[in-house]
Amino acid sequence: MTDTVIVLFSRDLRVHDHPALAAACERARHVIPLFVIDPDIPAGNRLGFLAECLADLRGSLRERGGELVVRRGDPVAETMRLAGESGAGAVHTGVDVSALAHRRQRRLAAECERAGVEFRAFPGLTVVPPDALRPSGGGDHYRVFTPYWRAWSRQPRRDVLKAPGVVHVPEGLSPGRLPEPGHETYELFRGGETAGRRRMEQWLRHCVDDYADGHDDMAGNRTSRLSPYLRFGCVSPLELESLAGEAGDAGEFVRQLCWRDFFHQVTRAFPRINRDDYRPRGHEWCDDEHAAQAWREGMTGIPIVDAGIRQMLAEGWMHNRARLIVGSFLVRRLRVDWRVGADHFFERLLDGDVANNYGNWQWVAGTGNDTRPNRPVNHIRQAKRYDPEGEYVRRYVPELATLPKRVIHEPWKLPSGVPGYPAPLVSMA
Ligand SMILES: Cc1cc2nc3c(=O)[nH]c(=O)nc-3n(C[C@H](O)[C@H](O)[C@H](O)COP(=O)(O)OP(=O)(O)OC[C@H]3O[C@@H](n4cnc5c(N)ncnc54)[C@H](O)[C@@H]3O)c2cc1C
Repeated sequence: MTDTVIVLFSRDLRVHDHPALAAACERARHVIPLFVIDPDIPAGNRLGFLAECLADLRGSLRERGGELVVRRGDPVAETMRLAGESGAGAVHTGVDVSALAHRRQRRLAAECERAGVEFRAFPGLTVVPPDALRPSGGGDHYRVFTPYWRAWSRQPRRDVLKAPGVVHVPEGLSPGRLPEPGHETYELFRGGETAGRRRMEQWLRHCVDDYADGHDDMAGNRTSRLSPYLRFGCVSPLELESLAGEAGDAGEFVRQLCWRDFFHQVTRAFPRINRDDYRPRGHEWCDDEHAAQAWREGMTGIPIVDAGIRQMLAEGWMHNRARLIVGSFLVRRLRVDWRVGADHFFERLLDGDVANNYGNWQWVAGTGNDTRPNRPVNHIRQAKRYDPEGEYVRRYVPELATLPKRVIHEPWKLPSGVPGYPAPLVSMA
């Protein structure tokens, strides 16, 4: 039995179904759960949510006799310093896919080797590990969703793991300070595993059956809103998939979890997904800062676009259908570079993560994994179809709250326009 194992947490802020933690508790007399706050990584508006996640995780570990040790600085240096101080013989962590995470993990593995400390990386980020599936025709990852979905559905799953009953932390360690409260938080999303599990259970008990019919209803609250919890690993995607399978008619919902896995395996193979075109197709983008800024602020004069952006600014989250409309408006109508939009989303979304955000943006822009990159999008038709009563627009664009349904999506049809609301940036005729 190893005496002490450090478990380095990152995007896996939970105790349930946590393979790195479970293995440490099984093999070691002492376990040190560690989170390192890296001041070089901007957390955008996610810092408040992260602070709540860490407080919740510390609470869960303390209930088990353990502790969450918090340090500030470079995660590799801080982990190695703690390993030196505690005499830890091994470091466990979770596999991640972004370029930054890759680099960090490689450095950590190298430092561990130099110090004679065992290093092990565990699954848990996705339902199926990002390196588990290879297309039979060759290549290191799937480029197209449907064959991936088929292979993913057939792939055997590991067991969902219970939360450890006790966590024995060595004596004398200073726990370290959690991030100070007072960062931006959002009423609808309280961070942490406790809140995430509550939402997961309610969703599966009461709502998942309605998902196939309701997920495109922009005004209805008919999707799970679990994405921030998946982003920070407060909820295990494997446990969610497994419980959804027992909950009833969840096929369409499980397919969305497969999309998440799909983009993670793309990002693992193409870590520059947040900067470079996945499939360069010679797009020429307009350098129109005025239009980009109006879009960022939800002031384009196109109600459905402005409503989506303003939902994100107010709630830290945006409905998927709105993300598609808002994103394709920027790249198809304004011809602004997808990186401009994706960076704004990444900064403002609580669920903003490299794989899902940039993978979806490239899909929308036609530089990514869409097999029909030039599919036509009619933004007004989409607005009328997915927000037929104009309820979504009225909720997020108060200037338009009293407009009748017949003009809510096309206020430019009113001869005098709407006071306080801009004229459309581009003609929507
Ligand atoms: C331009 C654009 C940017 C996006 N950026 C992000 C992002 O930064 N982070 C993020 O998690 N999702 C992103 N998405 C995907 C999707 O919009 C969100 O996952 C979804 O709206 C989250 O709401 P929900 O939890 O209620 O999802 P549900 O519909 O309840 O789906 C359940 C889960 O499946 C996953 N999922 C659903 N749709 C997708 C998808 N298209 N791609 C990948 N995973 C999916 C999410 O983890 C989600 O929480 C983006 C989509 C677009 C079009």
